[in-house]
Amino acid sequence: MPLLSVLSLCVQYQSAQGVVRAVDDVSFDLEPGETVGLVGESGCGKSTLGKAIMRLVPTSDGRVFLDGDDVTRMQAGALKASRKSMQMIFQDPYGSLNPRHDVGTIVGQPLSVAGWTRRDIKDRVIELLGQVGLPADAMRRYPHEFSGGQRQRLGIARALALKPKVIICDEPVSALDVSVRAQVINLLEDLQQATGVSYLFISHDLSVVEHISDRLIVMYLGRIVETGRSEDVWDRPAHPYTEALLAAAPIADPRIARSHARSVLQGELPSPLNPPPGCSFSTRCPYAQALCREERPMLRDVSDGRKVACHYDLLEQPAALPRVARVAN
Ligand code: SF4
Repeated sequence: MPLLSVLSLCVQYQSAQGVVRAVDDVSFDLEPGETVGLVGESGCGKSTLGKAIMRLVPTSDGRVFLDGDDVTRMQAGALKASRKSMQMIFQDPYGSLNPRHDVGTIVGQPLSVAGWTRRDIKDRVIELLGQVGLPADAMRRYPHEFSGGQRQRLGIARALALKPKVIICDEPVSALDVSVRAQVINLLEDLQQATGVSYLFISHDLSVVEHISDRLIVMYLGRIVETGRSEDVWDRPAHPYTEALLAAAPIADPRIARSHARSVLQGELPSPLNPPPGCSFSTRCPYAQALCREERPMLRDVSDGRKVACHYDLLEQPAALPRVARVAN
């Protein structure tokens, strides 16, 4: 049984302009000790999906099972208990840390809510600070006294406090300097080795996600368009949108960089209020045909563990797919 199972999850909300389907029929599993990377442009619904799994935003349909328990149906008491097993790390490490509280209070807050004694909280906070590479005396200092990377370490320490099985990492390194990103990602990997925690790692940057993930999920306008083993998706994208994301990602290996240089993402993400008919990527896809604008492609199996939502087969016959002029938005 998977540790986390997301089944046909939908999030829709009413805006002044109409109904927005922010997450549309998304399903995937997360296994113990696994990292699944969730990637897509800003506004594709990936952060909303993370929050919906945590029940920080309401869902309109679908189910989320954590260790076999239906999170979407839990009452307040059971939901609070489930928070011990599932935690979240946010993009803005400063915004997610209360500036008026010292580090001991911030990192120890989940333990305090869980009813731990002051003595035990102090011991556990010192242990957690050590795990994330910060000294014990950091517990008497305040968030503004730390760098961006150190503040994200504090956010990670707080998320680890109750030894969760799953951590949803929502753009955890996007706000950090490039030089600090690798340190935080290495820390997350080390902590996974030590604790066996699973990550759902959300990022708009495929090069960051690919480094840490066992499997990748690519989202576009609220739906999954491709999923598969990380190295397979990275080496041979099966969906034109993934191909375009890869073309935009910085790649150190010139051999792989050349193979990714075929497609450049053009135009803006369409409004989720008024998605294109048929394939939602058809307004930006260099391979779009008449069928693409008429019929929505379903997510289908294309190889072992690989799924793609495209009418055509970029993996088997890339040369057979005609590249056509981009359709205007
Ligand atoms: S279905 Fe058509 S428009 Fe959509 S990704 Fe495939 S080729 Fe492009």
